[in-house]
Amino acid sequence: MGLFEETAVKAKDAFDAVAKKTNEVIGIQKLKISAARVESQMSKDYEILGRMFFDEKADDEDLGEAYKTVIDGIKESKEELAEINAQIDEQKRTRNCPNCGAKNPDTSKYCGECGEKL
Ligand SMILES: [Zn+2]
Repeated sequence: MGLFEETAVKAKDAFDAVAKKTNEVIGIQKLKISAARVESQMSKDYEILGRMFFDEKADDEDLGEAYKTVIDGIKESKEELAEINAQIDEQKRTRNCPNCGAKNPDTSKYCGECGEKL
């Protein structure tokens, strides 16, 4: 093998090594995306399972403490969410007076506090 051919072979080997490395990186990225997709699906299934368990067992007195703690947390969150949504509804039904800032029913034409036109 002449010098030119040896150099060409070395260059090709170097190129192949880089290509192999690039393919490995792309392969790892694809696998990471696949792993993330599977993890996402698994999380959704766990959530569905949790909701099914909650719907069926929320009032079960025989559950262990660990279950009761999580179930009580969900119940508290549900109450908190209902309270927040009630406040949102309340805010939607009222209008603040541009003059004094008092809350007035959405249907009022004049402020109940200062008489300003709403
Ligand atoms: Zn007012």
